[in-house]
Amino acid sequence: MDVAIVSLGTELVTGQTVDTNASWLGGALTGLGAHVRGVTVLPDVLDPIVDALREATAMADLVVVTGGLGPTADDLTRIAIATLLNADLVLDEPSLAHIRTLFADRGRTMPESNHVQAMIPAGAAAIPNPIGTAPGIRAKAGRATLVAMPGVPGEMRAMFDASVRPLIAARAGATVHRRIHTFGLTESDLGERIADLMTRGRNPDVGTAAKSATITVRLHAHGADEAEARARADADVATIRSRLGLHVVGVDDETLPVAVGRLLVQRGETLATAESCTGGWIAKRIVDVPGSSVWFTHGYVTYADSAKRDLLGVRSETLNAHGAVSAETVVEMAEGARTRSGADWAIAVSGIAGPGGGTDEKPVGLVHFGFAHAGGTFVHERRWGHTLSRTEIRSRTAWAALNWLRLALLRA
Ligand code: AMP
Ligand code: MG
Repeated sequence: MDVAIVSLGTELVTGQTVDTNASWLGGALTGLGAHVRGVTVLPDVLDPIVDALREATAMADLVVVTGGLGPTADDLTRIAIATLLNADLVLDEPSLAHIRTLFADRGRTMPESNHVQAMIPAGAAAIPNPIGTAPGIRAKAGRATLVAMPGVPGEMRAMFDASVRPLIAARAGATVHRRIHTFGLTESDLGERIADLMTRGRNPDVGTAAKSATITVRLHAHGADEAEARARADADVATIRSRLGLHVVGVDDETLPVAVGRLLVQRGETLATAESCTGGWIAKRIVDVPGSSVWFTHGYVTYADSAKRDLLGVRSETLNAHGAVSAETVVEMAEGARTRSGADWAIAVSGIAGPGGGTDEKPVGLVHFGFAHAGGTFVHERRWGHTLSRTEIRSRTAWAALNWLRLALLRA
């Protein structure tokens, strides 16, 4: 089923409000197996709105409109639909009764201006609003079904779930979504390895989304029913896993910190972190995972040399001879964190996040990583380059540290 989304409101085109309705609807509709053909965003001006509705109803099976159903003069959706349908606005008594009841429940009388919210184009149907005053509107326009919902995001979602979702689910078959989280490949390298799966128009629909250092392969599989869609999705997931090997961190909810936690729990082991340039970001990502208290014991943030000495036992001689950003220092940070916490593993990072503080020998973007375990201590070095922002350097460092730990756990 082809769907067009229309977002109405001057606040949306002037940058005062982000059009979260369209993105939420895009996700929900795609999730139902519908094909979103486009999103149109327009200010509260009647003629362009009528034109947009005409165009949308000509191209899509379903047109989903949000906004412009309020009681004020700039709320034009019902007038626009009436114009499109060449119909008059007529009073919908049940909607008016519902609005009156809502006001009465709050001990108020309904202002006359709310009366207009119960006006519906003749031949259209009111869609009940589970949590607010304005009913939605459902109408047939040519071969398309047009659905208009309030702009307030909570009301829109409640109405969509109660009344629109069932309309689509009945017609669209089933879709299964999978996410495959990868680490360590560039988007182009990854794209080449699965290029045949990413052909436009293919089912499953496969695409990539890069965020910081992780790239997620997103997959939408359609089928006549759930089982058929799932079988298609499973086949692609298996193919992608075999092509990307150890670069695959996990599938669906198994993000990098979740994968690390699962590997530690399998081994009955625990982890501590000793962070300098990331300032606790590795620990934050770990603690984002519910239940991580089972495997995460200590997060040391040791930003100053004195903190590295006092909390982790890094030696003054090491700091003086090699500096805080050095392999020697992260080794002592990791070993100190491991010994002092009693955890089985410790991660340590120290780097130059910039924008200042770089030298020829130690440029901005240089990060040292240390990993301590009963089996030994090892180090890695990374040069992110000076073009990344401080935030991006720190974020990627946190992800890279977790990924090296994941690979070490897989080998150990
Ligand atoms: P309306 O239904 O046009 O009266 O919209 C009511 C309120 O909902 C607006 O003032 C916005 O704050 C919000 N809103 C409307 N459209 C959107 C949208 N597409 N995304 C997010 N918020 C919206
Ligand atoms: Mg509005």
